Amino acid sequence: MGGTVENLSCLRCQRDLEQSKSVAVYMFAQTVGIRPRQKSTAQRICFCSQCSVSLAMGPAPDGALNLAAWKMLRDIVSADPALNEAAWEELRGIAGLLTSAQTETKARTGTYFEF
Ligand SMILES: [Zn+2]
Repeated sequence: MGGTVENLSCLRCQRDLEQSKSVAVYMFAQTVGIRPRQKSTAQRICFCSQCSVSLAMGPAPDGALNLAAWKMLRDIVSADPALNEAAWEELRGIAGLLTSAQTETKARTGTYFEF
């Protein structure tokens, strides 16, 4: 998990994100009012769908950078229920694995609310 750009694990829970739905937060720095203008490389931070939703629903964190990331996550989570549903489905998959080894896979809800 030392990779900077291709780090495919959740920053919060360390879950491997290879086949999970996730949110990537991109960050870069740029000088202002200084010539020549400099731009850092971009860093990518990933959160799994469940941590994204959990963080967004939770209280504001400490620290300016954390707060900025938290606002971005809230933006995404509040804009559309898709990420929420992904988190819910993954949680349901994990909970299902814990309780009974193989129950039905018809958990996928056929109906969606239309707005
Ligand atoms: Zn996570």
